[in-house]
Amino acid sequence: MAQKVSRRLFLGVSAAAAAALSKVRASSAVAPADVGGAHESRAPWFLRTRRWVQTNLNEQDPATYDRSLWADYWARVRAQGVIVNAGGIVAFYPTRLPWHHRASALGERDLFGEILGAARRAGLTVLARMDSTRTYEGVFREHPDWFARDAHGEPFRAGDLYTACVNGPWVKECVPAILREITERYHPDGFTDNSWSGLGQGQVCYCDHCREDFRRTARDLPVRVDWDDPAYRAWILWSYARRTGIWDAYNRITHEAGGPDCHWLGMCQGDPSEMCGDFRHPKALWSRSPIVMLDWQARRPGEGFQTNATAGKVVHGVLGWEKLVPESTALYLGPTRPMFRKAAKPEPEVLLWAIEGMAAGIQPWWHHLGASQDDRRQLRTAERLSQWHAENEAYLFDRRPIATVGVAWSETNIDWYGRGESATRAETPFTGVAGALGLHRIPWRAVHADDVARDAPELDSLVLPNLAAMSDAQCAAVRRFVEGGGGLVATGETSLYDHEGRRRADLALAEILGARATGEHRGSFSGPAASPWASGEGHSYLRLGKEATHSPAFAGLEDTDILPFGGRVEVVRAEAGAAVPLTFVPDSPQSPPENVWMREPRTEIPGLVLGARDGRGRVAYLPADLDRCFGRDRIPDHARLIANLVRWASRRPMPVEIEGPGLLDVHLFRQPGRLVLHVVNLTNPAAFRPYATELYAVGPLRVRVAKPQDLAPTRARLLVAGGDGPCAVEGDWIGLTLESVSDHEVVVLE
Ligand SMILES: [Zn+2]
Repeated sequence: MAQKVSRRLFLGVSAAAAAALSKVRASSAVAPADVGGAHESRAPWFLRTRRWVQTNLNEQDPATYDRSLWADYWARVRAQGVIVNAGGIVAFYPTRLPWHHRASALGERDLFGEILGAARRAGLTVLARMDSTRTYEGVFREHPDWFARDAHGEPFRAGDLYTACVNGPWVKECVPAILREITERYHPDGFTDNSWSGLGQGQVCYCDHCREDFRRTARDLPVRVDWDDPAYRAWILWSYARRTGIWDAYNRITHEAGGPDCHWLGMCQGDPSEMCGDFRHPKALWSRSPIVMLDWQARRPGEGFQTNATAGKVVHGVLGWEKLVPESTALYLGPTRPMFRKAAKPEPEVLLWAIEGMAAGIQPWWHHLGASQDDRRQLRTAERLSQWHAENEAYLFDRRPIATVGVAWSETNIDWYGRGESATRAETPFTGVAGALGLHRIPWRAVHADDVARDAPELDSLVLPNLAAMSDAQCAAVRRFVEGGGGLVATGETSLYDHEGRRRADLALAEILGARATGEHRGSFSGPAASPWASGEGHSYLRLGKEATHSPAFAGLEDTDILPFGGRVEVVRAEAGAAVPLTFVPDSPQSPPENVWMREPRTEIPGLVLGARDGRGRVAYLPADLDRCFGRDRIPDHARLIANLVRWASRRPMPVEIEGPGLLDVHLFRQPGRLVLHVVNLTNPAAFRPYATELYAVGPLRVRVAKPQDLAPTRARLLVAGGDGPCAVEGDWIGLTLESVSDHEVVVLE
């Protein structure tokens, strides 16, 4: 299989990508009203608008908006589109709708119309920005039945705003009227909408509209958040359907009033768990969207910049790599707390976040709060990178990733296994694997669990990070992948639950994983385990057995018989013929020193089960949750073992290898006639805690890239440092040296 994959990967993908792109273009009506201006392209706006600016207006801005300042800014960052507030919470135009609150400083001004006109004259795409589920107390007093209510009948509030119910007249009638009014009067290219989906999974609305509508499912509303309650589970499905229905309904209105390219686009987050928490079903929404407007502005506390590349891979994994994913990037200090909406964020923090996004197919969307900026530094932050982006578009679009490792995720696992604790149960194992592969410079792609069969031809190996809830069809696709020669790394409770989160009698993939569930576990999900010892801190280990000696899966670990653990291990029985190179060593005291010795230094509880059968791919199953442990604790041995297992299961080498110091994130792409390699230098004292304030160059780096059969490059062009240098073809590899990399380098091999 490996050879076949190789040919298809290196020869076929660019043609496939081009075909898919032309299909997307053909399916869309060409020539919306404003095509032209600065753009020669006849592609619709959602395929050609690659740099965005958003001035997120406030109530006072109509009094002071400085048109020349922002027009100058658009030009300096080479913007091709603007996102500007139109309506929803606040109307920035003279609306005729009586309940649509006009900006307090609007007076007779039509600020939205003015900005739209100026942007059009500059040849820019214009998206009307909405926030369609919240409004002011005055509207609440006049129309109390439009608003979401808790179990006591109290309205849900966000600050001094009231949250409208997604099943009430505000969403069903008022927002459509606003969309129609704006579309007919201004003909924006489209809409994007901030908090469009209303309340999330943790807040049941008990308003009369919800009571009546839900009764059609033959149930009463759930009385509380309870994943065991059939009413709550039915409410979850019903709530998802409603949000997806809103997406379709708003699009019907904007298409009807503004033409087939006038799309309404609810904003999405870059983390599927957050999306699910808000009833924004990632696959359902991204599958029906011509472009994804990603509201994922900065890293959260404790996260690295890699998080942004992960978001790009997750979205493109569903959306395809031909469509665009602009991402709102905060140029103010935040949005992690403490947040200062009017102060500038340090430039290196913005650059490294945006560069990681660009390396994973995300486009810049520079986001400013308010039209007046007392901290003028934020108007300079994006200039250099945005200009670089404009000058190098040829290498950043219309390309396919070369990543032979897939990491799977699903909404099913987040919701029906996560059950309100998806961060610990589903998300951290996924981000742990992503972090481990990134640390070891292994290119990977995100694979939706429904798409394993589709993506299989481009994969050497697949990782299932505690993908506990899997449908029978998803399990069958994984089985076929392994039977066809693909490698597998699975962890924790993978396949132990069905698509509704019901526990199966055994792992559905037991035969593939070489292990049977016993239904027991040791340790805990969240770290410190219940322990007989006073420490109670999960002072547990994994012991290397004789199978570990000489195994490439344990490269770099030759001088130890134990690994630190501290996590949860599913107690499984390994099948005959499977190797068990790691076993669990239970918790023992951490102090005082006189008391620190392993009470039970050996058990038969497998921490790792390895299997390799003729004709099948190699399989590594980790009943010990090293992925979650690494996502939580960042212990280097955990990352090393995960990376080693992925390399072992993959059989073929990774398509790119880089030697040299530093924390580097690596992304490789194929275009017709060339390879494009992103090397992002994340080496920084602030690598996992904001804010980066300086860049630290690394080098020299020795780079090896797997040589496609149809390419014999002789030159490596450097898109950041500039210039080019030689590269050498050595057998199946292309070799080159990068003398120094500051924030990032993009290497074109052609
Ligand atoms: Zn309601």
